[in-house]
Amino acid sequence: MINLILFGKPGSGKGTQAEFVKQKYDLVHISTGDVFRFNISKNTELGELAKSYMDKGDLVPDKVTIKMLEAEVEKFPNANGFIFDGFPRTSTQAQILDDFLNSKNMSISMTIALEVDENLLIDRLINRGKDSGRTDDQDKSKIQNRLDEYNKKTAPLIDYYKSQNKFFEIDGIGEINDISNRIFDVIDKNL
Ligand code: AMP
Repeated sequence: MINLILFGKPGSGKGTQAEFVKQKYDLVHISTGDVFRFNISKNTELGELAKSYMDKGDLVPDKVTIKMLEAEVEKFPNANGFIFDGFPRTSTQAQILDDFLNSKNMSISMTIALEVDENLLIDRLINRGKDSGRTDDQDKSKIQNRLDEYNKKTAPLIDYYKSQNKFFEIDGIGEINDISNRIFDVIDKNL
C-alpha cells in the first residue's frame, strides 16, 4: 500500500499532479480543499463553516478538518492507497493522521514537496482565479494570508517528515509532464 502526501504552497500544482499520481499508482485522491468546496456548493453545515475561514484565506480549524479527512478515508476501505493533497497543513493534523493510519495498520510512505518560488505563485494564483472563479485566488491580500498561514503553520511539517526520512523535494517549475516525471522518479526510487 502506498500512502503519499503531496506538499507545497498554494498554487504549487498539488491538485494537478495528484491526479496524475492517482492514475499511475491507482490511489484514492483526497483533496481537503476540494471536499470543502464541494460542501460549500451543496450548502452543507460543514461548507458554511469552512467558507467563513476559506474566504479570508485562513486555515479551517484542525478539529473540523481532521474529522472530515477521517470520514473521507473511511469511505474507501479497499483502497490500494491514498494521495493526500492539501492535508496535513498543521503539526496537529500530521500527528493525528499518523495515529489514525497506525490504528488501521497503515502509514505514510512519503511526502513529496513541489518547490515553487513565492512570486511566481502569486501570479499563478491570480491567473487561476480568473478561470476558476475561486474567490480566494482573486485577491492579493487573501493570497498573501494563505502564504503566511503556510509559512507559519505548514512549513514546520517539513522537519516532522524529514525526521522520519520521508521528505522529498522536487522542482515544481516547468512543463506539467516533466514535473510528473520528477514525482514518479522519486516514488519509484524510494518506495
Ligand atoms: P486548497 O484547495 O488546498 O488550496 O485549500 C483551500 C482552502 O481550504 C485553504 O486556504 C483552507 O482555508 C482550506 N483548507 C484546505 N485544506 C485544509 C487543511 N488541511 N487544514 C485547514 N484548512 C484547509
